[in-house]
Amino acid sequence: MRPIIITCHNGAFALPAAMDLLKAGGSAVDAVVLGCTMVEANPEDHSVGYSGLPNLLGQVELDASVMDGNGLRAGSIGALQGYQQAAQVAREVMNSLPHVLLGGDGPMRLAAEMGLEPTNLLTPEAEAIWKSRLTDSDDRDASYLGRIKQMVNLAEDPQIAEQTGTGEPAHGTVNFIAMDMNGDIATGVSTSGWAWKYPGRMGDSPVIGAGNYADNRWGAAACTGRGEMAQRCLTAHSVVTFMRFGMSLEEALAQGMRDLDALDDPYASEMNILAIDKDGNPGGASSNPEKEFAVMTPEMTEAEMRPRTYVELDILKR
Ligand code: ASP
Repeated sequence: MRPIIITCHNGAFALPAAMDLLKAGGSAVDAVVLGCTMVEANPEDHSVGYSGLPNLLGQVELDASVMDGNGLRAGSIGALQGYQQAAQVAREVMNSLPHVLLGGDGPMRLAAEMGLEPTNLLTPEAEAIWKSRLTDSDDRDASYLGRIKQMVNLAEDPQIAEQTGTGEPAHGTVNFIAMDMNGDIATGVSTSGWAWKYPGRMGDSPVIGAGNYADNRWGAAACTGRGEMAQRCLTAHSVVTFMRFGMSLEEALAQGMRDLDALDDPYASEMNILAIDKDGNPGGASSNPEKEFAVMTPEMTEAEMRPRTYVELDILKR
């Protein structure tokens, strides 16, 4: 099979290395984990791995998942602190444990057993963005519950977007979806989640079926945006299921987006989906008309940016 790999705008720089791995006969799982590892190490990206934006207590907590469409194998971790290679730890759950999802101290323990280097994930730049809206940071535990509503919307604030250096909001994720030379499909998702989130909050990224799903027989999908929306609609699994029952890739993406309109969600915000069908055709959809995704096939020397299909969501107008 001709390999292919796709990602979000913030993963485009990692595609040449991931494609080299696929061209050398590497697996789709290893290609998506390599891509996530590179983004997790990028100090300029405040939405994934090292230098991610922290929760309300100033702790960086990482969520990640990996799914192998060959046999529906999956591993995921939530709220990992102190190690940046979140996707590698998720792959280890899949490969070495009789489990799918690890939370609590489990991901940290597994990272140490893997021999990964502990890292202080909070950089001065990320800390400055985090602190910029916490005037009473000395007493920050006290009124947390009263503030969470304000904080969840703040992540979308245009002024905060300026401070992230990319013009992007104070949340984000990276998705990679690959098909290898054997025709196996895999997805990898990694994030530091929503800035100022409640400690221990996990988004869609570590929830198989919500932010990540891969099945060699029908295709794969992964999400970015407000994780609670994808969790409630099981968006990634839905898109794959729509293809299973005969929709084209584009129809499945659009239906996955439109399903979100049923949600009663006062915090509704931007949602984005990436997908490939079982033949490796790529596509993307977004509630933001500006959003693109990156594609790489073997003959390309660098990633190609393509527009995502814009799907207007009524829930964002309510
Ligand atoms: N989906 C991520 C989360 O909810 C955030 C994002 O992609 O913007 O944690």
